[in-house]
Amino acid sequence: MAQVKFFGEAVPLEMHKVRIVQKLNLLPIDQRHKALSVAGNNTFLLQNADVFLDMLTDSGVNAMSDQQLAAMMVADDAYAGSATYTRLDAKLREIFGTDYFLPAHQGRACEHILAKVLVTPGSVVAMNYHFTTTKAHITLQGGVIEELVADVGLEVNSTLPFKGDIDVAKLEAVIKKYGADKIAFVRVESGTNLIGGQPVSLQNMTELRKVCSHYGIPYVLDASLLADNLYFNKTREDSCKNLSIREITRKVADLFDVIYFSARKLGCARGGGICIRDKELYLKMRGLVPLYEGFLTYGGMSVREMEAMVVGLDETMDEDMISQGPLFIAAMVNDLDRRGIPVITPPGGLGCHLDAKRFVDHLPQSQYPAGALAAALYLVSGIRGMERGTLSEQREPDGREVFANMELVRLALPRRVFTLSQVKYAVDRIAWLHENRKLIGGLEFIEEPAILRFFYGLLKPVSDWQDKLVAKFRADFGDSL
Ligand SMILES: *Cc1c(COP(=O)(O)O)cnc(C)c1O
Repeated sequence: MAQVKFFGEAVPLEMHKVRIVQKLNLLPIDQRHKALSVAGNNTFLLQNADVFLDMLTDSGVNAMSDQQLAAMMVADDAYAGSATYTRLDAKLREIFGTDYFLPAHQGRACEHILAKVLVTPGSVVAMNYHFTTTKAHITLQGGVIEELVADVGLEVNSTLPFKGDIDVAKLEAVIKKYGADKIAFVRVESGTNLIGGQPVSLQNMTELRKVCSHYGIPYVLDASLLADNLYFNKTREDSCKNLSIREITRKVADLFDVIYFSARKLGCARGGGICIRDKELYLKMRGLVPLYEGFLTYGGMSVREMEAMVVGLDETMDEDMISQGPLFIAAMVNDLDRRGIPVITPPGGLGCHLDAKRFVDHLPQSQYPAGALAAALYLVSGIRGMERGTLSEQREPDGREVFANMELVRLALPRRVFTLSQVKYAVDRIAWLHENRKLIGGLEFIEEPAILRFFYGLLKPVSDWQDKLVAKFRADFGDSL
């Protein structure tokens, strides 16, 4: 990383410049209110044209480099045997040192294939924490998941550097409870998605490898958010301080039997893939790719995406590139934290996470506090965040609500997309909302789908609280947007 010291206030300094821009809309609050109602108070259902800063996700919306765009122009279009595929295959071997690669159209497609091959009814997948699509694919095959993140990982505020680490004693206990042959695989998500982008240490991954080897359990890395994790390994872990990002990547990769990723995140492109060491396992998975994804040399991706991925993966090995996200996130988290606004600490990857349990502590979990806070934030700022709390859970088969461990509003900072002034605008509006938090009320379902309800569910406010919030905004800001 370019080490730049400041004479005055230190700021996260970008090591790139912007050469293509997209015009943004900031609608007046009345129009935002209307758009929110039409979207059923579900930020997933807002139209992007109605959104000012889209902090919903980092998926497929990271900025690409000039080199990526250029590579897309020379992609080799062929149904079979495309040179683009050969370049991608070679790049993954180079970076991860794995022998086999299977392409898939995105991260969840990799999870589908993995679950189909490794999960059977009654089998268990042990992991630090679930991701929505991961859990859905495992349960669809009749498996169950065990979440083994160390207890501190679920504490909102901490100074521990690696809150995504698995508690090795918990893993041993789960293996004892079910028997090693029932454990389909151990999955490390690095970094974590639903618990605040918190990273996993190389040391923890190494300890888990020993347990997996001892019991003969396949060891799987979900590398979708690996870029941020590598930055934290480098900056927070002594054993990585003097290693290059490329060297750390290889140390991580060498531990795992299978590595899969969403290229909508890793490599700032689109698509995904699975890297495998064992030939037999590779052949089993290979049979499913043409069935669900596409022929083996494209797997549901366009060759342009694959070319962008080749370059993006290579650029991910540059600390200047992967540091932008974590540095901007840290600036946002630290600013909010200084103002006494509840956020997950320490700052992680992916984005800034508001702690709705404390932000709107007057709301019961049955009224979806994180969903309500995400709706309120859009209303007062045009910023779209994502609910990551009880709404994102699934009901028990008997209809009981599963209350999430954490009620978070995730404000993703897609990589290299927003400027510091936009981050400061977000902080300003969040601070105003925090001052007026007692005006925020709960939400209830109008329409609740059975699977992945957070994507399509329609909700409404339980009272006229949104009218009151709009009135207070008008009183304080007048006709300002
Ligand atoms: C996004 C994500 C996935 C799923 O990837 P998609 O490309 O969105 O299907 C899986 N695991 C993690 C950790 C993710 O962040």
